[in-house]
Amino acid sequence: MNIYEKIDLNKVINASGKMTALGVSTIKDSVGDYMKEAAMSFVKIEDLIEKAGELISKYTGGEDSCITLGASAGIAISVASCISGNDISKIEKLPISEGLKNEVIIQKGHAINFGAPVTQMIRLGGGLPIEVGQSNKVNPYHIEEAINEKTAALIYIKSHHAVQKGMTSIENMVNISRKYDIPLIIDAAAEEDLKKYILLGGDLVIYSGGKAIEGPTSGFITGRKDLVKCCRLQYKGIGRAMKIGKENIMGLLKAIELYDKNDNSKEVVGQREAMEWLSDEVNQIQGLVASIVKDEAGREIYRCQIKVEKDILGVDANYIIENLEEGDPSIYTRNHYANIGIINVDPRPLKRGEERVILERIKEIVKDIK
Ligand SMILES: *Cc1c(COP(=O)(O)O)cnc(C)c1O
Repeated sequence: MNIYEKIDLNKVINASGKMTALGVSTIKDSVGDYMKEAAMSFVKIEDLIEKAGELISKYTGGEDSCITLGASAGIAISVASCISGNDISKIEKLPISEGLKNEVIIQKGHAINFGAPVTQMIRLGGGLPIEVGQSNKVNPYHIEEAINEKTAALIYIKSHHAVQKGMTSIENMVNISRKYDIPLIIDAAAEEDLKKYILLGGDLVIYSGGKAIEGPTSGFITGRKDLVKCCRLQYKGIGRAMKIGKENIMGLLKAIELYDKNDNSKEVVGQREAMEWLSDEVNQIQGLVASIVKDEAGREIYRCQIKVEKDILGVDANYIIENLEEGDPSIYTRNHYANIGIINVDPRPLKRGEERVILERIKEIVKDIK
């Protein structure tokens, strides 16, 4: 019985990926040990936050870094730092920013909802989002025309949620930010490469600690020393409502250390074997056709793809998906292609042997159709 079942919640088998709605990721033992130890001692938090920033910068190549509760908090705090600078009186007044430089320029195709709107996180930091261009077309001149004496920052959102075509590139955003001497914030929440966006020229780059890094609920902002210092000062203002605990800070430090030296080739072999087993078994079931497919983005992820043959089975992929979710344990699959009859099983978040439970549930669901 897991700890959530002890309070009468359904056990969840996550075969979908890193989903905030399911708790994003699970931590490794050594990360948990670190967190427990950290939670059991006192420490001067200001020093811990500074030290954590110094240690994180080694992995990002940023001049300095500021720990945050997540990438959403990272957006609010980055924007706040570009508006207030190191003026404590301004920091205490945010998110009210009347009379200050407070406009944050964002390309229309980047004004996404990642579970909450990006523009709302900008407002939380006192920013006024200025959406430029059209949702599928933004040229550099759209951005340049919007720049005026009230512009506090430019923001670029690197995400699969964002419109991918027709937007102004990061390189062009960097050029514009340098030409007008306006900081460029890059939201790289779920990105795997911790150095790339600093190298490309982002002034403040934001990551989520719970996504690629698989740490506890956490995040960080990395980049220019002067601006990162102003980010830390926000903990005397709006940042207080986004306080990250000492145990999560230490958990992130351990997770990023493991992530940095991570050679997951062994894990990938095991994951692939589990998916091949599942695929062979599913292929014994009439009306389902399974195969192994590599990740669309080229990462070393081999998923089991199950095609539901509606004509034979009499039900569609959504029927199977709903029944998997409504059972106990609740099983969540990766359903981007459900409308064309495809269900994907992602091996990364699965615990040992859970592919067997998934198979048994699929068999039961199929058996109960008639
Ligand atoms: C997930 C995500 C966020 C929010 O990250 P949290 O760490 O959950 O606050 C922000 N921006 C993008 C692009 C994301 O994918």
